[in-house]
This record gives sequence, C-alpha cells and structure tokens, in this order.
Amino acid sequence: MVLLDGKGLSQKIKERIKREVVELKESRGIIPGLAVIIVGDDRASHTYVKMKERACEEVGIYSIVHKMPSSISQHEIEETITLMNRNPNIDGILVQLPLPDHIDATRILELIDPAKDVDGFHPYNFGRLVQGLDTFAPCTPLGVMELLKEYRIDPKGLNACVVGASNIVGKPMAALLLNAFATVDICHIYTKDLQSHTERADLLVVGVGKPHLIREEMVKEGAIVIDIGINKLDDGRLVGDVDFERVSRKASYITPVPGGVGPMTIAMLLSNTMKAARQRKV
Ligand code: NAD
Repeated sequence: MVLLDGKGLSQKIKERIKREVVELKESRGIIPGLAVIIVGDDRASHTYVKMKERACEEVGIYSIVHKMPSSISQHEIEETITLMNRNPNIDGILVQLPLPDHIDATRILELIDPAKDVDGFHPYNFGRLVQGLDTFAPCTPLGVMELLKEYRIDPKGLNACVVGASNIVGKPMAALLLNAFATVDICHIYTKDLQSHTERADLLVVGVGKPHLIREEMVKEGAIVIDIGINKLDDGRLVGDVDFERVSRKASYITPVPGGVGPMTIAMLLSNTMKAARQRKV
C-alpha cells in the first residue's frame, strides 16, 4: 500500500508557485491578489480562512480578508463582491461557505466575475468543466486529480465511484474523472445499497462527512482510495470518511486524513489564483 502524500506534494506546488509569483512580477509587474469574504463566526470556517491567508503569504500572493458579522445583509455582501470584481489588483474572489441561512448563497456565487472565480463554483465555470473546457475547477477535486497525476495513476478506463454529490466536491469530482475517461458511479444519501457500487470501484473517492462510512468490506482488493472527508471526533482527532486502519490493508493507494486531500485543496486555490493573475488584462 502506498500513502498518497498530499502534504508533501502541496509543499512542492507551493514552492513552484512562489517562483512563478516572482517571475510574474518581474515580467509584467503583476502581484496576484486574492480577496476572501467570510461571514459569521463559524470556527472551522475561520480556521480554513487563516490557513488560506497563511498559504498566500508563504508564496507571495497578496490577500485581503473581509470579515463580516452574521447579521450582515445580502446587499452588503453583494456590494463587497461588486467592488472586488472591479478591483484591478484582485485576481481571485472566494466566499467561504457556509453562509448564514438568511443569505442567498447561489446569488452571491453567481455575482462573482467568472474570471475571478478561483473556487470554481460559478455555474459558468461549472458548465465549462462539464464540457471539458478550460476553466477554474473547484480546488478539492482538482487537488485529487493532481495527486493522482503525481503518482502516475491514470483514471482512463477505471471504474470510479464517487461517494457524495455536493456541488463543491462530489459533482465536480465526477466531472473531472469522466473528463479523464473513467467510468463514474456517483452515490449520495439516497443511493440504495452503497456497497454494491463501492465494492466494484478501482478508484473510490469519498466526500461525505461521516466518519467510518466506508468499511473494509465495501472496498475492492487493490483499490485506490481517496478520502476527502474531514470529521472532528469528540476526542479532538481528525478523521476522514474511510476506516483508514482496516481499508489501508486492502488498498493499493490511500490518502491519509489529515495530510492527504486537505493540503492539496489549499495548493489548488493558490494555483487557481496564479492562473487568474496570468490571465489578468492590463
Ligand atoms: P455536503 O454535506 O454538502 O454533501 C455531502 C454529500 O454526501 C451529499 O451529496 C449527500 O447526499 C452525501 N451523503 C450523505 N450521507 C451519505 C451516505 N450515508 N451515503 C452516501 N452519501 C451520503 O458536504 P461537502 O461540502 O461536499 O463535504 C463533504 C466532506 O468533505 C465533509 O467532510 C467536508 O468537511 C469535506 N471537505 C473536505 C475538503 C478538503 O479540503 N479535504 C474540502 C471540502 C469538503
């Protein structure tokens, strides 16, 4: 069994981006800029935003965080996005999810200029992704594809099973795998007999948010297992959705949690911001 080391790869990618930031500044005078909007005081969201800020700082990307109280109105968030859309020093705009219930998240995400949509959540970019066109792909599934590439795992012809079908994880993951010519099953909460799908998968990708959802008997011998889930247990430990201890004995490759997909997500955010900066019209 080989551990897919997302932490190590993300470090390599960050070093590459750091060099690219210097080159872009020297050749075109551009410093890539990322604007982050966070609403409310959800602790996990604040932790993620801090990690993103720190990563930007590490590679030389300028970042600005707009912290807004949960009482903020839809209109005020929209005004901030409009300003960021117009700001020539901002290449990427990211709205940390979830947003409070009184905010229409779809309208917010649709307001972001698709050219600055470094999270890849805008329907325009999602449509391009499904069509296999150049786009900003969502960072987590994009990170999974990079990790597979690093270990020379080609999805072409593999039976892939994606468990979880959210707009930010499962659906774009399935689209990327389909674009790479895997045969893709997509499972979700209403899937009957989950095991009948997972046990046939050469490549199993799980992003649900339920610890130990995937047990040993649900996994094919020699499968490649990607665990996107992040769950905090009562004792404070972070685990994924896969019973790592048992499943890792059966898998050919597996991602650890933490240290697998999580760091890749942040690396891809930097990579998408860099891509947006390169496409900046000056
Ligand atoms: P979500 O709640 O929006 O979606 C969960 C999906 O899982 C839904 O499609 C739902 O139908 C499905 N599901 C729920 N219970 C199921 C079950 N018993 N069997 C099969 N499918 C089931 O969550 P999300 O935002 O997509 O996040 C999923 C997980 O990925 C969470 O643990 C989240 O923390 C993690 N995540 C990790 C990263 C990362 O960087 N590693 C990034 C984003 C999300």
